[in-house]
Amino acid sequence: MDLSYSAAEERFRSELRAWLQRNPAGPEPEEINAFVFYGKAWQRKLYEAGWCGIAWPKEYGGRGATLIEQIIFQEEMARARAPLLINLAGLTMGGPVLIAHGTEEQKQRHLKKILAADEIWCQGFSEPNAGSDLAALKTRAVRDGDSFLVNGQKVWTSYARFADWCMLLVRTDPDAPKHRGITFLLVDMHSPGISVRPLKQINGAEDFNEVFFEDVRVPRANVIGEVNGGWEIAITTLMHERATLTFSRQLQSRVALNDMIALARTWQHDGHPAIADPLLRQRIAQAIIESAAIRYTAYRSLTKTLRGGVPGPEGSMEKLFWSEMYQRQLETALAIEGPYAQLVAGSDRVPDDGQWPSLFLYSRGRTIAAGSSEIQRNIIAERVLGLPRAK
Ligand SMILES: Cc1cc2nc3c(=O)[nH]c(=O)nc-3n(C[C@H](O)[C@H](O)[C@H](O)COP(=O)(O)OP(=O)(O)OC[C@H]3O[C@@H](n4cnc5c(N)ncnc54)[C@H](O)[C@@H]3O)c2cc1C
Repeated sequence: MDLSYSAAEERFRSELRAWLQRNPAGPEPEEINAFVFYGKAWQRKLYEAGWCGIAWPKEYGGRGATLIEQIIFQEEMARARAPLLINLAGLTMGGPVLIAHGTEEQKQRHLKKILAADEIWCQGFSEPNAGSDLAALKTRAVRDGDSFLVNGQKVWTSYARFADWCMLLVRTDPDAPKHRGITFLLVDMHSPGISVRPLKQINGAEDFNEVFFEDVRVPRANVIGEVNGGWEIAITTLMHERATLTFSRQLQSRVALNDMIALARTWQHDGHPAIADPLLRQRIAQAIIESAAIRYTAYRSLTKTLRGGVPGPEGSMEKLFWSEMYQRQLETALAIEGPYAQLVAGSDRVPDDGQWPSLFLYSRGRTIAAGSSEIQRNIIAERVLGLPRAK
């Protein structure tokens, strides 16, 4: 692992840093519709200035730069506290999967629109009885002339309400062994027969949705890869999700860690700042150590991707460690606030406008999303350490 940057990479960093200083994103609206509108405008602005799809090929609207520059981009975005790009599923999963497995026509049709946030993507994998055991999925797609007719239900589909396209896993051969009869389809979310129902989360947000498909017609040309060959593509998608997303999230949690330390220096416990409490000091020190550990683990995994071209199952180690570490970090933030962590935003006795309890509640889902901690441990055991398969 080489942690130094070339002169060209340093130039890229200063150019981007200056651009971000000249073009601040501004405060994020809380209301979800306004947030999506704001997020699309911000991503389009970045795209038009050449800052979206840093490592994507130029012919599809990317910058054609290196993965290292992509990482510098994520570092600078976190440093500037810029919002996450709204088309997360398209940028971190859909685009990379199309670049690897899509036809030329599919790449031309979709990639630029993903980058410019003209079309938002979602990931339709999980079902009520197929989460950890994703290959048990039942949503059916039956061939009908030049298209498929899709029937079934997905759940936990983030941003489906705002999505234009869905990466949908469907069963196309119910008689084949369960991993073999699955196809990866791109579905236009505006097609007749699709209904989307939002699910309210514990922190009051409504990012998730249930999605119902009733005789939805999807052209054969929207298959990614081969019919019944969708499982391998789904696994590539998940490895991109675990590795790429964890990299940017560990950067954001470092920003949150600095905020938490600032809070501990000012928030008073019995007439002295919270940071003077020896037990809290220990927890903060542990959070700093863990933040450094995930940082170097993420760089080590990046080095492997740079040598091998695609993220491997090691992304599961980062995802597992980061998601559990982040929950511990937020539990420490609540301990710093003490009883005031019970109060809702808006009260003048709530520190940092109530962000810590909200982040804490949302973080509970981090050890579930993109595969639960138990599933990551199984992957690490079987695919990284080469231990026998779980029965
Ligand atoms: C924030 C968030 C965003 C999400 N976004 C999306 C999205 O956009 N698209 C999408 O398709 N899905 C999404 N999901 C769904 C997510 O992928 C699933 O929730 C996850 O795969 C777990 O599946 P499940 O909820 O059905 O739990 P289950 O699979 O029913 O698991 C229940 C419990 O059993 C344990 N368990 C299950 N199998 C095993 C095993 N073999 N060994 C040991 N323990 C096991 C699990 O670890 C878990 O604790 C999201 C989830 C969250 C929390």
